[in-house]
Amino acid sequence: MLPKYSLIIPVYNEEATIPALYDRVSAVMNRLDDVAELILINDGSKDRSLHLIRELHDQDSRVCYLSLARNFGHQIAVTAGLNYARGRVVVILDADLQDPPELIPELINQWQQGYQVVYAQRTQRRKESWFKRFTAYLFYRLLKQLADVDIPIDTGDFCLIDRQIVDLLNAMPERNRYIRGLRSWVGFRQTAVKFERDPRFAGEVKYSFHKSLGLAINGLVSFSKVPLRISTYVGLFAAFVAIVMMILVFYWRVAYPASPLTGLTTIVVAIFFLGAVQLLSIGILGEYIGRIYEEVKNRPLYTLSEVAGFERLSSQADYSN
Ligand code: UDP
Ligand code: MG
Repeated sequence: MLPKYSLIIPVYNEEATIPALYDRVSAVMNRLDDVAELILINDGSKDRSLHLIRELHDQDSRVCYLSLARNFGHQIAVTAGLNYARGRVVVILDADLQDPPELIPELINQWQQGYQVVYAQRTQRRKESWFKRFTAYLFYRLLKQLADVDIPIDTGDFCLIDRQIVDLLNAMPERNRYIRGLRSWVGFRQTAVKFERDPRFAGEVKYSFHKSLGLAINGLVSFSKVPLRISTYVGLFAAFVAIVMMILVFYWRVAYPASPLTGLTTIVVAIFFLGAVQLLSIGILGEYIGRIYEEVKNRPLYTLSEVAGFERLSSQADYSN
């Protein structure tokens, strides 16, 4: 029988949390009204994570896993999980127990009310650095202002999505995958369940500032054309200033033909100003051209070195009920 519920968990160097994660998640799975599979995606961990995952798979037939051949990043790991999930409902959560698995029945409850996407919305972040909280706060609000689609604030990847949406996400060819954005973009009936985000259970944060910034830029550029327009606006403004300056210089020449023009400063300022505008515009164009390049290359999103567990449950029946 095919599972009704698929839980997708990306794992990157989480050896310290895996045992506790499994305990809490399997306790929740036992309480669900139907068969669930647990899909662990090893995102090129360098510690014993894969070893622990294999052990879980040997002990528990509900545990399947994928192992990416190197570290491809959180969003790609989740994408791989979505590709392999067989449930009618898919729940995505983090391995570090910051997303409490005990919330899953509540998410399912909303799905039963007819929502295709149920995302968990943080009301509070406990024990995360003020810097992380502050930058996250700013980013979600900026994204909300700038994005073409309505991406709800303070929501991470922790969510439940219906098979219909999973199929849509899987069919999307786009390579810069900002899953929260794509999830909002598809539409359908969506709702939020509020929760307090716990501190990480163990280990270090796997998202360095550099990676978070990358994800943030990805989110902004994938879902907003405002950055492109900024350069247009700045360019227009610079052109306006340049015209005003030209008129002033012309006027000076005509009105005070005797005075030597001390235009050097003006010229230097103008060169710097226009240079800055051009560099900025080129930078923003580069952002989008980089994306076009990425999409055009059309490489596979990930390479797998190991896949296990997906046959065991799939031998019979389909999930047509
Ligand atoms: N993760 C991953 N690949 C990466 C970085 C992170 O699969 O390159 C996983 C990680 O194991 C965890 C989740 O993504 O399950 C979120 O990572 P983390 O808790 O470090 O980030 P944050 O809580 O700051 O979003
Ligand atoms: Mg975390």
